[in-house]
Amino acid sequence: MNFKDYIRVIHDYPQPGIRFKDITTLLQDGPAYRAAIEAMRAAVEHLEIDVIAGPEARGFVIGAPLAIALGVGFVPVRKPGKLPFDTVQASYDLEYGKDSLAIHTDAIKPGQRVLIADDLLATGGTIATTINLIRQLGGEVVGASFLIELSYLPGREKLGSGIEINSLITY
Ligand code: AMP
Repeated sequence: MNFKDYIRVIHDYPQPGIRFKDITTLLQDGPAYRAAIEAMRAAVEHLEIDVIAGPEARGFVIGAPLAIALGVGFVPVRKPGKLPFDTVQASYDLEYGKDSLAIHTDAIKPGQRVLIADDLLATGGTIATTINLIRQLGGEVVGASFLIELSYLPGREKLGSGIEINSLITY
């Protein structure tokens, strides 16, 4: 299956100069969505992960089905003020704008092997911050899985070495 055919590219959204990769066209197609998650599962099977962490909101629609496919738990990484229990949080820069992320302090147990999942790797700011939060809790980030990677941006370098990066579609 050529997954790229299911992604809609919108020019100048949400700002001039951004080529926005719209994944809703893939998500709304049952066989394509299932095949994408299955391909992502097969790529990380060997990592023997304990839990998946995904940043809101599109990290949920990739990370949660991937967690079910692997039979592991899912940890939501959210905007501040959304999680009800004690959190640690950190801020970061986006390809467009600035934001903060938070995680429950008891979401990851020390020594757990964690896979981060998200829809798209752009500048890597979101994932670098998610890595920071997981490490603060003592988790070991062993991999990061994306539906899409924008290889014309330096996201991959920002994640550093020691983390296996898998992307289904590359632009
Ligand atoms: P970044 O922190 O720069 O790696 O970007 C993180 C998030 O921003 C991604 O997970 C996407 O949800 C969103 N994003 C950034 N750039 C784009 C883009 N060109 N098209 C679609 N989503 C994007």
